[in-house]
Amino acid sequence: MIRPAELIRRKRDGEELSADELSELVLGYARGEIPDYQLAAFCMAVYFRGLTPAETFALTEAMIASGETIDLGAALGRKVVDKHSTGGVGDKTSLAVAPIVAACGVPFGKMSGRGLGHTGGTLDKLESIPGFRVELSLDELVRQVREVGVAIVGQTAQLVPADKLLYALRDVTATVDQLSLIAASIMSKKIAAGAQAIVLDVKVGDGAFMKTLEDARLLAEAMLALGERAGRKVVCLLTDMDQPLGAAVGNALEVREALETVRGRGPADFTELVLDACARLLALSDLGVDLAEGRRRAEAAVADGSAEAAWRRWLEAQGGTPDESALPRAPVVREVRAPRAGVVRRLGAVRVGNAALHLGAGRRTKEDSVDHAVGVVCLRKRGDEVAAGDVLAEVHGRDESSAEAARAEVAAAYELGDEAPPQRGVLLEVIE
Ligand code: URA
Repeated sequence: MIRPAELIRRKRDGEELSADELSELVLGYARGEIPDYQLAAFCMAVYFRGLTPAETFALTEAMIASGETIDLGAALGRKVVDKHSTGGVGDKTSLAVAPIVAACGVPFGKMSGRGLGHTGGTLDKLESIPGFRVELSLDELVRQVREVGVAIVGQTAQLVPADKLLYALRDVTATVDQLSLIAASIMSKKIAAGAQAIVLDVKVGDGAFMKTLEDARLLAEAMLALGERAGRKVVCLLTDMDQPLGAAVGNALEVREALETVRGRGPADFTELVLDACARLLALSDLGVDLAEGRRRAEAAVADGSAEAAWRRWLEAQGGTPDESALPRAPVVREVRAPRAGVVRRLGAVRVGNAALHLGAGRRTKEDSVDHAVGVVCLRKRGDEVAAGDVLAEVHGRDESSAEAARAEVAAAYELGDEAPPQRGVLLEVIE
C-alpha cells in the first residue's frame, strides 16, 4: 500500500511518480480511502512542480479507470466526433454547433458540465429551456442520437468519478489553473465518453484559465499528446477570451443567441467560431470531406434552414419547448451608455462574467441555484466606434438593486479611447 504522505513529499520535491503510484493515489481517493486534505496537498505540489507527460498520461488513465467508459461509436455504428471548450464567458458554442453538425448528417452526442465561477456551463444554459431534460440514461442518449442525430446530456455519475471529486477539490484549493491537471481532466472525460476525434476550443485571455497564447499552446500540446497516446485525433482551436464571446452572457440570453446563430443571424465573432468548429468536426467525421467542404456544408445547413429544423427536433426530443417565446425573461432591463465618444479599446471578459454571476446567472459554490433569465448583452465590442450616450450593453436583472450594481460593473468593463485597438479575430491559432 502506498503512503500518500510519501508521494506528496516526492512530488513537492520535484520527483517523477510512477504510473502505479499515481493510479493508487487517484483510485484510493475515488474510493474514499485517501482524505481530501492529502489530495489537496498533492494538487498544490503539482501546481508548483507540474507533471511530466508520462505522469499526465498516467493521471488521465487513472481517472478514466475510476469509472465506466462508453463506446458511443460502437453503439451507433458510426465514427463519433466531440467538442469541448476549456471554458469562458458567453461561450454557448456547443448549443449552435450541435444542430448544425447534426443537420450535416454527423451524429452529435455530447456530455457537458455545469458552470462554476464566472464561466457558464452548457447544462445550465440548456436548463433555461422550459421542460428540457439533461439527465438522460446512456440508453436514452444512444437512442436519441440514433433517431434524432443530436443530444447533449449531463455527464453520468459513473463516467470519470475521480475527476468530479478532484475538480471540486481543486476549485476550493486554488489549483484549477494548472496545465497538466486541466489537460488530464478534460481528456479523461473525452476519452471515457468514446469520441474518436475531438475538437478542443482552448480559450486564451482575461476570461480564460490560460491568460497567454504561450500557456494556451502548452495546454493544447499536452491535450494533443494525451489524445495521441490514447489513439484519438485531437484538433485544438486557440480562441480569444479577452472579451466575452458573442453578445449574450447568461443562460436564456445565450440560448436565444445560439438559436439566432443557427438561423444565420448571430454576432460575427460567435458565428465565425461556430462555423469553423463545425467545419473541423465534419472534416474529422466519417463523411470523407475536407475542411473547405465541411465549411460549405455547415454554411448551407444554416442558410437552408436545416440547422434550425435540427434545433427543433433536438429540443423536442429532450422535452424542451423549441420556441424562444417560452424562454424566461428578466423583469428589469437597464442600459449601460457610453460616457464619451470614441472606440471600444477593451471589454473585460472577467468583469462581464462577474456582473452576470452577481446577477445570479452563475454559481459561486456548487450548491448555488441559477437564475436562468438574468445576464448581460454586450451590444458593442472591442474595436466598435461609439458616440457619447450610445448604448454599450444591457443588463437583465431580477430587481432594481442587482441590476444597478451590475450596470456599474459592466460600465467598468468597457474601456473607451481615441485609437482603435490592434485587430484580433476570434480564432487565434490552430494546433493539430
Ligand atoms: N474544464 C474541465 O473539464 N476541467 C478542468 O480542469 C478545467 C476546465
